[in-house]
Formats: sequence, C-alpha cells, structure tokens
Amino acid sequence: MVFGSGDPGADLLVVGEAPGREEDLSGEPFVGRSGKLLDRLLGEELGIDRSGCYIANVVKCRPPENRNPRRDEVARCRPYLDEQVRLIGPTVVVTLGNFATRLLLDTDRGIRSVRGRAYPFGSGWLVPTLHPAAALRSGAPVVAEMREDLQRARELLGWSH
Ligand code: URA
Repeated sequence: MVFGSGDPGADLLVVGEAPGREEDLSGEPFVGRSGKLLDRLLGEELGIDRSGCYIANVVKCRPPENRNPRRDEVARCRPYLDEQVRLIGPTVVVTLGNFATRLLLDTDRGIRSVRGRAYPFGSGWLVPTLHPAAALRSGAPVVAEMREDLQRARELLGWSH
C-alpha cells in the first residue's frame, strides 16, 4: 500500500492516480519517472521540494500492469483520500490527470476541458492539471500547461517566487 507522503500540515495537497511499479516497491508516491518530473516542476514553479507539500493518490495500491483503476477500486479507496483531505485541510489541492480531477471535482468531464482555472474546494481551491505521465508522453506543450497551472496554485497559496 502506498498511502502518501510529505507534510500533513502542508497548505498544498497533490493528488495523483495510483502507484506504479517504483512506488509499489518503495512505498512512496511519485518516485518513478513521473515523480521526477513532478519534483522538478514543484521546485521550479512553487519553490518547494516534496517535503513542502503532501502527495497522495486516488488509489492506494498498484493496479496490475498499471491498468486504469476500476470504479470499485476507486470507490474502496475513496474514504482514505477523503480523510487525508479532511486532516490536511489544504488551501490548494492540485489534481494530476483525469482520475483525481473527476473524483474530487465530481465531474465526468476530461482534464483538458476543466484545466486552466481554479475551482472552489472546501474552504480553499482545487487546481486541475495534466498528469506528469502525459507530459512525459507528449512533451513540451503539456509541460508548459502544467507550469501554468502550478503558477495558478502558487498565486492562490500566496507564495511569492
Ligand atoms: N503516477 C501516479 O499517479 N501516482 C504515483 O504515485 C506514481 C505515478
């Protein structure tokens, strides 16, 4: 099980999809290739490393062969994520990709159509962005969109850069 990592008192919560192979082996979220890109963007756009936020996933166990999480798996893991959100009480939640965004925004719409703005979430904000794995597949234009979204998160957090 990959529960999550970082500072439970953080103002920023980052939510991904599900652990992959590296995460399954280490017990830590986002330690593989996607995680390296995420670390870089957190540093460059928000001026933090992973200890300056909390990182969790929708699904806490690795889906076989990295297939998409099934509905029942998402439903079974949901209470853990909901409780993480409640305990951390973040000012900003950044959702990475379709699974986290659809779940927490309670929408069927795709990440491409909802990103580019912030949504009220609890007493704070939700900023949807693309998944770093999509950026690794598609390259610079997607990385640029992620940077834009993370800059929006930084402004909402009131962090200077
Ligand atoms: N992709 C995710 O969505 N989460 C991880 O923890 C690693 C890769």
